[in-house]
Amino acid sequence: MTSPIVRTLAFQPNERNIFFHILTACNLSCRHCYINPAQHGNNTLTKEIIADWLTIFADQDKDSNVIFLGGEPTLHPDLPFAVKKARQLGYRTVTIDTNGYLHHDLLNKIGPEEAVLSFSLDGPEAAVNDPLRGNGVFEVCTANIRRAVALGFETSLIYTVSSLNIAALRRMPALVKALGIRNFFIQIIGLRGNSAGDDSSGLQLSPEEWLAQVPPVAAEAAALGLHVIYPKVFLDESEPFVCAGEAAENFFIFPNGRVYRCPLCEDFPVHSFEITADRYLRPNPGLREEQFFSLHIPEGCVMNKMLQPSNLSYNSDGRPRYRISCCLLKQEIMSSMV
Ligand code: SF4
Ligand code: SF4
Repeated sequence: MTSPIVRTLAFQPNERNIFFHILTACNLSCRHCYINPAQHGNNTLTKEIIADWLTIFADQDKDSNVIFLGGEPTLHPDLPFAVKKARQLGYRTVTIDTNGYLHHDLLNKIGPEEAVLSFSLDGPEAAVNDPLRGNGVFEVCTANIRRAVALGFETSLIYTVSSLNIAALRRMPALVKALGIRNFFIQIIGLRGNSAGDDSSGLQLSPEEWLAQVPPVAAEAAALGLHVIYPKVFLDESEPFVCAGEAAENFFIFPNGRVYRCPLCEDFPVHSFEITADRYLRPNPGLREEQFFSLHIPEGCVMNKMLQPSNLSYNSDGRPRYRISCCLLKQEIMSSMV
């Protein structure tokens, strides 16, 4: 018999996560893409710069993890070099977030023991996925997932939930299981990049929609034996609010040298650090995101209130109906054999 174990994944003081965008170019143009070339640049980092920047952030005293992103990171011909360099530098885990195209014959250039492959798919069939991610994407992505699984790679699937695909979420666990994927990550649409456009407010989910659909589907997926992670989003009365910018070491690195601590800040020049041409990490001399992190408000996350106030609501006495957690706070559900 299987019963799920549910827990909130607290920020770990001894952990460091590097989200390394090695280029911003992509072969797709997804409807909700969060890449913003005006803020993130449009250059492709050289092999030498990738090695130098990985070295800057490697910390042997911490459990350091690196996630390679883009754009589409597999478009970079030196991605296999980057994976191997990260391993040499002692990163505990290496993950590649891909749209599924696996350019440059990636599966034959790295071994299953070198990196986890995390695929983005936003629908259980082409009719839901392809209007969001592009014609033919479902077929290519699922075929490459099957190839990766057959070769022994550990794989994850990221499903970004919006009003356009939430009704199809309940059909995902069976597909994830059938593809042989172990980790199922449900992500919430954020108002960043394309999703911050004028006609996009309809993409967001109400608290009622999220709570009615996501936790039950996560539990069903766990019952199938999948390891499921999804954002906490709404804090319970008893749960403390914690800002990852103050309590965790996450670095979101872009090819123009900007380094953020908070993903919600990425559309603005309020990055914490910048990597300068002489390859040193220096504080951003202008307004920095950390100046927002310490503004404690009853609504929880201050950046959420500034950027996405439409997802807040208040009681008649003016108190918020719920607090919004840090967007980096995750909930985990796993099955356990008893
Ligand atoms: S695959 Fe990723 S980077 Fe490319 S368009 Fe889609 S969301 Fe943007
Ligand atoms: S999402 Fe909110 S709580 Fe999390 S790091 Fe950013 S400002 Fe802090």
